[in-house]
Amino acid sequence: MLSNFAYVRAHSVREAVKHLTSDNASLHAGGTDLLGCLRDHVFHADKVVSISRLNALKGIRETAQGGVRIGALTTITEVAENSILNRRFKALARGASEVASPQLRNQGTLGGNICQKPRCWYYRGEFDCLRKGGDRCFAVGGENQFHCIFGGDSCYIVHPSDTAPALVALDAAVRIVGQRGTRTVPMANFHVPPGRDVLRDTVLDPDEIVTEIAVPPAPSGLRSSYRKVRARRSWDFALAGVALAIVFNGDIVDSAKVVLSGVAPVPWRSMEVEEIITGNPLNAEVAAKAAEAAVKNASPMEKNGYKIPLLRGVIEEELLAAAGV
Ligand SMILES: Cc1cc2nc3c(=O)[nH]c(=O)nc-3n(C[C@H](O)[C@H](O)[C@H](O)COP(=O)(O)OP(=O)(O)OC[C@H]3O[C@@H](n4cnc5c(N)ncnc54)[C@H](O)[C@@H]3O)c2cc1C
Repeated sequence: MLSNFAYVRAHSVREAVKHLTSDNASLHAGGTDLLGCLRDHVFHADKVVSISRLNALKGIRETAQGGVRIGALTTITEVAENSILNRRFKALARGASEVASPQLRNQGTLGGNICQKPRCWYYRGEFDCLRKGGDRCFAVGGENQFHCIFGGDSCYIVHPSDTAPALVALDAAVRIVGQRGTRTVPMANFHVPPGRDVLRDTVLDPDEIVTEIAVPPAPSGLRSSYRKVRARRSWDFALAGVALAIVFNGDIVDSAKVVLSGVAPVPWRSMEVEEIITGNPLNAEVAAKAAEAAVKNASPMEKNGYKIPLLRGVIEEELLAAAGV
């Protein structure tokens, strides 16, 4: 059951920021994640501040240079269906189309998708885990089949978003407004790994709001994609996945960003894959070698060792698909 909270509908970003400065306030966009967290007592809010009516934060605009600016309240469906994104920034459109179910994509927003809370069943359940200020991670020695194989450091969640890895691969940046003004943070630095601060998911301070996500112009020769493997076809979070943003010069890979999903507490850049494919033709031999290198430093837990061959296979297949092999 939901506990009582005050509900405020903000008429401007500034008004929302002001409300967020009061103790224990939570921001509400589409509400698909927030309300579940409040109902399940993952955390409590005394005040819920809705920005859902702020039309200035909705929509996808092309910039004069050929990039895009996406308002934080743009629905995930709009991101998945937008023609510019499907033509030029396929990884993002594809990532959005892989999120949850049609109903959740219609209601959920891009800002909410990158700010959503982790799905670890201990964090979401009645466990006083590290991420909730407790003194241990229950996934260690527990039911850890869906937890991370990279970057686990006291807490072993996986990052739940399907759009965030694509945004990191595409070099996107997040515009943030708070009481102290406006700042822009690269998507690659937006999420906070548990080793740095186990109580934070993102760099956002309590009074800060993501207002926009900017994707820079696509370099010529860019091919981008997102591939996700999940247990069920209806809706489910990634067991393993990969976002690619590869710039080809003929057959040769000029530069590459490779970002993994479902395997680490934050969108996880695979430098190993990037190094192996850059400067080479992306053929079967190179793809296999890169996929092998991607999992070399994985640290599986007792019950999630299956993620290693799964991830290796997904990376190899997606690299070959990007090369058109
Ligand atoms: C059954 C189910 C299945 C799902 N499956 C997937 C999946 O496969 N892949 C996937 O990626 N996601 C999945 N999700 C998560 C879903 O995509 C998110 O719930 C949704 O994207 C959140 O968007 P929202 O606008 O509803 O956010 P809200 O629920 O309103 O907010 C979510 C969180 O983000 C914060 N927030 C929201 N907007 C902003 C902003 N502009 N600035 C700062 N903070 C903000 C809120 O305070 C809150 O903490 C699933 C969710 C459910 C319930």
